[in-house]
Amino acid sequence: MMRFCKKCVMPNTRPHITFDKNGVCIACQNNEKKKKIDWDKRLKELRELCEKYRRNEEGKYDCIIAVSGGKDSHYQVYVMKELMGMNPLLITVEDVFTMTEAGKHNIQNISEAFGCNIISFKPNRRAAKIITRYMFEKYGRPLWYVDRLLYTVPLYYAAALNIPLLVYGENVSYEYGGIDDEETYSAREQVFNGVAPDIKLDELVETGVPRDELVYLDAPSREVLNGLDPIYLSYFVEWNGVKNYEFAKKRGFKDLTHEWDRTNHIENFNQIDSYGYLLNAWMKYPKYGHAYATDYAARWVRYGILSREEAVKLAEERDHDLDPKIVDDFCKFTGMSVREFYVALDKLYNRELFELNEFGQWRLKKENVEERRHPKW
Ligand SMILES: [Zn+2]
Repeated sequence: MMRFCKKCVMPNTRPHITFDKNGVCIACQNNEKKKKIDWDKRLKELRELCEKYRRNEEGKYDCIIAVSGGKDSHYQVYVMKELMGMNPLLITVEDVFTMTEAGKHNIQNISEAFGCNIISFKPNRRAAKIITRYMFEKYGRPLWYVDRLLYTVPLYYAAALNIPLLVYGENVSYEYGGIDDEETYSAREQVFNGVAPDIKLDELVETGVPRDELVYLDAPSREVLNGLDPIYLSYFVEWNGVKNYEFAKKRGFKDLTHEWDRTNHIENFNQIDSYGYLLNAWMKYPKYGHAYATDYAARWVRYGILSREEAVKLAEERDHDLDPKIVDDFCKFTGMSVREFYVALDKLYNRELFELNEFGQWRLKKENVEERRHPKW
């Protein structure tokens, strides 16, 4: 049976999450700790770090910022360029799926709003198609290939361009629970943590992608990594997705209003760049029994925007309801038919958590639904 956090709605099926004896998850515990942080002191630490890497030379970059174009990226660039006065080079790994209008606008906007150059890395589409389909069917992790590059590519560029200070946004493990949930500013271990850990490249070669085309999928060597200083900005400045969104809007960021009302989301401003990419985070649902609606509802409970009852209701209504536009775009890219997609998906549902209802829909077992409403610890 699933257990759920008494404060938010996060279940114990989330990989690596832990709970205290009162049934409060590590993300909620860390959220309480964050309230005691002296943010002025942290900002001072960031200034000191920036001074260490500032080149004071015209035409030289002081740091690299890994960006997607999203609301958090806007905030990252603002902090580094306008608050810290650094000269950043932005690096983005392009989405392989169909972009939304908002997504196309936002990556341009970030350059226009802050006056920055962007290096855009376009992944090998042939390899991406093969590996994306393989990882979906075999592991239920469709976006492994692209996510892996999101972590590794900025590291390789930072090393090649000799710009050691590399800025990522939030420490996902610390904020929301994961392997690497010690609080640290260093993102050096990120490439080894639970978000997109290594799959042996030999296995991928067997899918028909030549080894030569798997460049950058391995983490850089320890020696290379030790020469870099990758950081999480969320260590130094208070990180709040809703505040970041409100900030980004004032600088020209667009959400999905009037463009797309996503059935399995509870908001329209997170991960809005493309259609098919969204399958990735939704895949938690058949495996672990929770997806976007739970993730964001849980965050909003921590931010004090939602009550736990409201969060439970949103999770019940939305989590399972995978948007057909996501499926269509994913199938278009990988060359799967919608039928093949659902046959593969069916196999991935965790039978311990789910049962088929009278309409042939996979739904959480009643005991799990009941436990989520009234967690017993
Ligand atoms: Zn919690």
